[in-house]
Amino acid sequence: MAEIQIKNVAKTFGAYQALHDINLTIQDQEFMVLLGASGCGKTTLLRIVAGLETATTGEVWIGGRRIDHLPPKDRGIAMVFQNYAVFPHLTVFENIGFGLRMQKLPNDEVKRRVERTAELMHIEQLLKRYSGELSGGQRQRVAVARALAMEPDVILMDEPLSNLDALLRMEMRAELKGVLAESNTTAIYVTHDQVEAMSMADRISVMHQGKIVQAASPIEVYRNPAAEFVAGFIGNPPMNFLPATPSGNGKWTVGGQDMDGPVSSETLKFAIRPEDLRPSETGLKATAKVVEPLGAHLLVTCDVEGALFRAVLDSDMTVKPGDVLTLAPQTDRVRWFNPETTLAVA
Ligand code: ATP
Repeated sequence: MAEIQIKNVAKTFGAYQALHDINLTIQDQEFMVLLGASGCGKTTLLRIVAGLETATTGEVWIGGRRIDHLPPKDRGIAMVFQNYAVFPHLTVFENIGFGLRMQKLPNDEVKRRVERTAELMHIEQLLKRYSGELSGGQRQRVAVARALAMEPDVILMDEPLSNLDALLRMEMRAELKGVLAESNTTAIYVTHDQVEAMSMADRISVMHQGKIVQAASPIEVYRNPAAEFVAGFIGNPPMNFLPATPSGNGKWTVGGQDMDGPVSSETLKFAIRPEDLRPSETGLKATAKVVEPLGAHLLVTCDVEGALFRAVLDSDMTVKPGDVLTLAPQTDRVRWFNPETTLAVA
């Protein structure tokens, strides 16, 4: 069992607080993604779990054992970091087998594991090459293979696919997800790429300014963002927001239109995803500003009473700048946020 518990972890660098009271449990064999913009503290949190950084306060437990005072090598963890430390003077085979040799595994077992993981990462043809001769993307795959070859209980990965081109990245993300699902590994994976996060994670922890804003399944984070930050960060394009004024008894005025919503006497923010809008007889009046045919869809950037508003529409529709569209929000997809707390109220 390799459940990871992060308890009340905070980290300050001088006067700067990089992490605030982080509490997170990653279940045994779960694939947890830490997702957030640059500087939000993802790498710092991962380094604390790895033992490359010391938490200012708090504890880290793995499999029911407190490990934050142990050196990295005694934590039962394999790591793949952005600056993947692949030894340039060793061949790919020697690099992947490095940790296995340190563990004094028999030669045939080393060979079996190296060949298997090299195949998984599509680098079996590179096994005899010196790692110093490889491209950045190839070296990155060697680093991932080396970690997987250890068959660890816990694997920590920091942007392990960042050096790959778009197509290979997509392929590798599926491979890696498959490999980890088959192994009994608990994984923490850091990325700022939301597509990668959505596609790979069992759960995503969305981080912002040193805090976890929401930890939930990808679909939950997408459909039911717990805070405005999540709604504005996840999704491409992200959610639309409009000010909503209450007219009593769960009735609201949004973009000049009447709508049903939660019962509240305070002003709220109405939010809807661009793809949850349908052209209709009644709905929000949106003036098209920019029309972008994206092949599968038509992305229309509009103005609704002075607010920026985007709609993802059927690619067969004909829309030109200046057209006034009437867009009905799919009612079960509407979210409401409290502008003061920025948290979802419904
Ligand atoms: P990125 O995606 O750009 O790697 P991140 O979310 O992983 O970003 P961190 O690397 O964890 O962010 O950094 C969080 C904050 O802590 C940043 O503001 C960073 O400048 C600061 N920080 C990180 N390491 C140190 C350090 N050793 N000394 C001082 N400040 C640091």
